[in-house]
Amino acid sequence: MPKAASAGRKQPAAAKSGAGLADKLARIGVARDEELILHLPLRYEDHTRTTPLAQLRAGETAQAEGVVRNTDIQYRPRRQLVSLLAGDDGGQLVLRFFSFYPNQQKALATGHRVRVFGEVRDGHFGLEIVHPQFKVVEEGAPLDERLTPVYPTTAGLGQDALRKVIARALAADPARTAEVLPEDFTHRRHLWKFGDAVRFLHAPPPRLSGLTQKALDARTHPAWTRLKFDELLAQQLSLKAHRKARAARRAPVLTGTGALTSLLLKRVGFKLTRAQERVWREISHDLKRATPMQRLLQGDVGSGKTVIAALAALQAIESGRQVAFMAPTEILAEQHYRKLASWLDGVGVEIVWLSGSLPAKARRAGTEKLASGAAKFAVGTHALFQEGVELPQLGLAIVDEQHRFGVAQRLALRGKGLAEAHQLMMSATPIPRTLAMTFYADLDVSVLDEMPPGRTPVGTRLVNQKRRGEIVQWVGKLAADGRQVYWVCPLIEESEKLELQTAVALHAELTSAYEGKVTVGLLHGRMKPDDKAKTMAAFVRGEIAVLVATTVIEVGVDVPNASVMVIEHAERFGLAQLHQLRGRVGRGAAESTCVLLFEEPLTDTAKQRLKVIYENSDGFEIARQDLLIRGPGEFLGARQSGEALLRFADLERDVALIEQARDAADELLQKDPAAAARHLDRWLGGRQEFIKA
Ligand code: ADP
Ligand code: MG
Repeated sequence: MPKAASAGRKQPAAAKSGAGLADKLARIGVARDEELILHLPLRYEDHTRTTPLAQLRAGETAQAEGVVRNTDIQYRPRRQLVSLLAGDDGGQLVLRFFSFYPNQQKALATGHRVRVFGEVRDGHFGLEIVHPQFKVVEEGAPLDERLTPVYPTTAGLGQDALRKVIARALAADPARTAEVLPEDFTHRRHLWKFGDAVRFLHAPPPRLSGLTQKALDARTHPAWTRLKFDELLAQQLSLKAHRKARAARRAPVLTGTGALTSLLLKRVGFKLTRAQERVWREISHDLKRATPMQRLLQGDVGSGKTVIAALAALQAIESGRQVAFMAPTEILAEQHYRKLASWLDGVGVEIVWLSGSLPAKARRAGTEKLASGAAKFAVGTHALFQEGVELPQLGLAIVDEQHRFGVAQRLALRGKGLAEAHQLMMSATPIPRTLAMTFYADLDVSVLDEMPPGRTPVGTRLVNQKRRGEIVQWVGKLAADGRQVYWVCPLIEESEKLELQTAVALHAELTSAYEGKVTVGLLHGRMKPDDKAKTMAAFVRGEIAVLVATTVIEVGVDVPNASVMVIEHAERFGLAQLHQLRGRVGRGAAESTCVLLFEEPLTDTAKQRLKVIYENSDGFEIARQDLLIRGPGEFLGARQSGEALLRFADLERDVALIEQARDAADELLQKDPAAAARHLDRWLGGRQEFIKA
């Protein structure tokens, strides 16, 4: 809920203008007048001058004026309203409408003087504007004095209505545009006044110099800089507030006894790498503290994060607490479950498995054990944090591939009594620097920068789809030699069903191509968990030579003997996916190969991606390149949640501003906490949670 306005303030313009408008404004994220003021234009139209008709040029957007010669409905090639204007200078202009209302036709009656605005193009009968904005005017009617803002909006909320309500909000209450930051604070940073900046952006003066206009369009104009700075400052202030709140919270002290962790280290069958030892020390130390850990463990695919998670879990269990270990997909969660179960077999630590597809009875049995505290270790998908699951002694929550959870899911997690638990997040993707300074700034980070020994680098081959037949043969020969192969089906984002069909067809194709001499298995997301597990187990045992799979195998699946991966239509996959997929092989001693089949023509982006994956094996480097191609928004999962986290500042282009805002936040909190609070209220109001997500 928005904060109530202080006594004596005017009612919000939105509320005054009726419930319908308020609803529509809510849809564009505007709940208070303060937010109307921060609803800034996408671009501008210049209605401050008219171009004589004879001087109009195709391709330019312009305002012009003329007298209607005649207006007709024409029917060929399709129904349309066509109006011919004559200019005072003898020029002509055609107006064309493919849909129109009777009153528009009436307004364009012969003899009427109209002012039109739109993009001019070459038509059959000379220059024309399709669907121009227009109004009937008197000769010499005054022109606008300011550029006309075009706002982001939603269906049913017209520009005119939006302009009116925003202009009203701007004029209504000077407090809303008043400066809330200390004078010397903004002055030293050469920042425009807040009021000047918003007034400028909502209604810039006409005839700006080319340079100024460009800066305005590119959002580098000082008025924009002030708004972006403010937005980033609010975000930094809110982050620091959260950090402080976290430091004040109490978490259980998980000292451990070392009994289980040392047992695990004996059982895994390998020695920790130096990097693993270091991050394990960091995490173990955090768990012993009474403030909740919020640590991100970063490590490339295959760097050995799972064993670290297991160690952390056991330290919590040694301390008598419960642990929840969550993965983003069922297959990955299940893989963790199996691995942990085999590591802990006979140790006396029961693991409860929870996923969305678990039968009700098994689920109940599991949740009861957790609720009573009889079982300490829960592994599963986000089903772990759904209703009906109680973890009364929760001491540690582990989230694998955390960036794959959307913002909304992460928010839901926050609500689930995690506040008092330690949190370990794991990711194979490095956080881009700007994100580390902003959305992830209150995390501590551990990095696994060393691979376990004995890995052989994966050779990558790019193969044109035309030569697919050769690959089929080659794989057949490898399989006959006892090698194991993943064959990944093309990604079909629009349709899971189609993806499934493709997988089934590919399975049939390969089965018949190898004439029963090679066992071909099939794994896809729609299979029953039991069948999936059986297939995986058969593959692990080597009973399946070629495993046809949809991208369900993308994350985390670990079968050391599989040394070849074929990816169909590699051009459709994202870089992170390709890297993850390729990471499934090269885990054993055998020389490994990843074949990327691609079909031409390739888009520029697809070409770039294939080049990056071909030339790089370091996951951090690939992720960096990926971010260059895509931008950090994807990393945040902002797309899934449909919520833009930063409206004005750009995480790539505004790095310097982010740094400035970070320092400024410290200074403001120290010198003028009241101003910091005012600033937060203006910018975040009721939405603080989202910025932090
Ligand atoms: P990721 O970081 O991608 O989650 P995993 O935890 O799945 O990596 O580890 C990949 C593989 O490497 C697993 O088979 C795991 O048992 C093995 N592994 C982990 N640490 C070591 C190590 N220090 N020495 C040898 N193998 C290791
Ligand atoms: Mg993993």
